[in-house]
This record gives sequence, C-alpha cells and structure tokens, in this order.
Amino acid sequence: MQHQGQKKKILGEGVNEGRREEGLKDAMGLIFVISAPSGTGKTTLLKKVMERLPNLRFSISYTTRPPRANEEEGKDYYFVSPAQFEEMVQSGAFLEWAEVVGNRYGTAKAPLERLAQEGYDILLDLDVQGARKVKEKVERSVLIFILPPSYGALRERLVTRGLDSPEVIRSRLANAMGELKEASRYDYVIVNESLEEAVETLRSIIVAERCRSKKEALLRNYCGKWEEDYGKNYGRRLPETGGEPL
Ligand code: ADP
Ligand code: 5GP
Repeated sequence: MQHQGQKKKILGEGVNEGRREEGLKDAMGLIFVISAPSGTGKTTLLKKVMERLPNLRFSISYTTRPPRANEEEGKDYYFVSPAQFEEMVQSGAFLEWAEVVGNRYGTAKAPLERLAQEGYDILLDLDVQGARKVKEKVERSVLIFILPPSYGALRERLVTRGLDSPEVIRSRLANAMGELKEASRYDYVIVNESLEEAVETLRSIIVAERCRSKKEALLRNYCGKWEEDYGKNYGRRLPETGGEPL
C-alpha cells in the first residue's frame, strides 16, 4: 500500500508527496465512495442500486492494470500505460490515485466536475486509500464500506466468480484483512449477505443522504413561500369562519 499524503481539512486541497493537488471545482452533488474487499459483491450491488435510483452516475477510473476478459474500455475502466498514468498524475488530472497490488488506479477530476454540474450524484468504487483521500478533499462525500458475511463466504465468492487464479485469490484474501481494519473510518458499513437487503440498505443510505444535503435549501424555499403566503393572506375574511378575519 502506498500512502499519498497527510490530512488537510480545506475543501479542494490536499498534499500528495509534497506536491499540491487541487480538489473538485464547484462540486455541488454528493459523492458516494464505496469500498469492499474484492469479491464481496460491490460491482453486483452498485449495478442494482443504479437501476433503482435516478440521477446517479458511476465514475470510471483510470488504471494501469490490463483489462480482464469480461471488461470493456470506457465502461469498466480507462486502461492506460504507466507512462500515460504518470503524465496524468503530473498534470494534476486526478482527484486521487493509489497503487493497489502493483497497479495504479486514479479518479479523474474533469468528468466528476462535469457530472456534478449536470446535477448528478456520483458513485466512486475506490480502495481504502482512495476513500480516505476523497473524504479529506471533498466535504460532500459519504463513505460506505461493504463487508462480506464472513471470511468463508468471501473465499467462496472469489472461487465461484471464476475470474482469478488460486494465487490471485490468496493475495486478495490476504489483502482483505488490512482493508477491514479501515472500515471503522467509513460513515456506513453494510454486510452483503442477502443481496436484496444490501441493495435496499445502500439505496436507503443514498436517499437519506440526499435528503440531508437538501435540508437547508428546502427550508429556505419553504419558509420563503410560507412568509409570502402569510403576508398576502393576513386578515383575510373567509366565508367558512363566518367572515372573521384570520
Ligand atoms: P466485487 O465487485 O466486490 O469484486 P462481484 O460483484 O464481482 O464482487 O461479486 C463477486 C461474486 O459474488 C459474484 O459471483 C457475485 O455474483 C457474487 N455475489 C455478489 N453478492 C452476493 C450475495 N449477496 N450472495 C451471494 N453471492 C453474491
Ligand atoms: P480491480 O483491479 O479488482 O478492478 O480493483 C482493485 C481495487 O482498486 C479495488 O479495491 C477498487 O475499489 C480499487 N479502485 C478502482 N478504481 C480506483 C480508483 O480510481 N482509485 C482508487 N484509489 N482505487 C480504485
């Protein structure tokens, strides 16, 4: 694991190995960061939640990892060479990036800013380092950690998924322990035992966080309209009250 910097509280700024990185410009939407040990069911969950909620978009990361057989360029990831990735790091294109088991992964800023301006909330699928970084840089971020029901269940899911060699599965299981230790930093933890229940819990969290984030604007508009109505109607005589002014 490669740690990228120290804590900085100011929205939109961070430190990456002594070099300044800018955060998101005018980010208005919410950013939901989802992490889980590989094989937990995160991809399955995210697809289902996106089908059930409007105005939610998935952020496609850049990676130096080669594509797997079932992956598509521009849908699962943007697959780039180490040199291209480094160029993006140097030009400050990333909101965050991290090295995960020998490959580099990064979240580009520009598409996030565009989506936020178009009114979307964004789902980020990040490892624990990336999640920590986004939390430091973006105030409107919500961190959600997905847990497998148990060690045995995770091992079984990795085997059943049939994508990885035994060696890769071993390294994923070894890696999971360190990731679990980071879960307490997250705002929410969900156990993906029943897929349906986990999808509903994740959906509810997103709905509740949206509701919370809109509280100030809602009350401002609501109270403004209330005052206007009160002012216009004060002292009005209604036939229903026998002409008494209200
Ligand atoms: P991740 O994206 O976290 O690596 P995947 O979405 O690829 O994980 O899921 C890993 C495997 O577990 C897949 O075969 C998927 O169908 C299965 N899976 C996902 N959620 C559940 C669940 N709640 N119960 C049983 N199997 C599940
Ligand atoms: P995989 O190679 O299995 O697709 O992903 C490996 C890990 O990289 C997962 O934990 C995934 O969440 C994480 N990851 C994917 N994209 C990004 C990214 O842009 N930034 C960070 N920090 N992690 C990412």
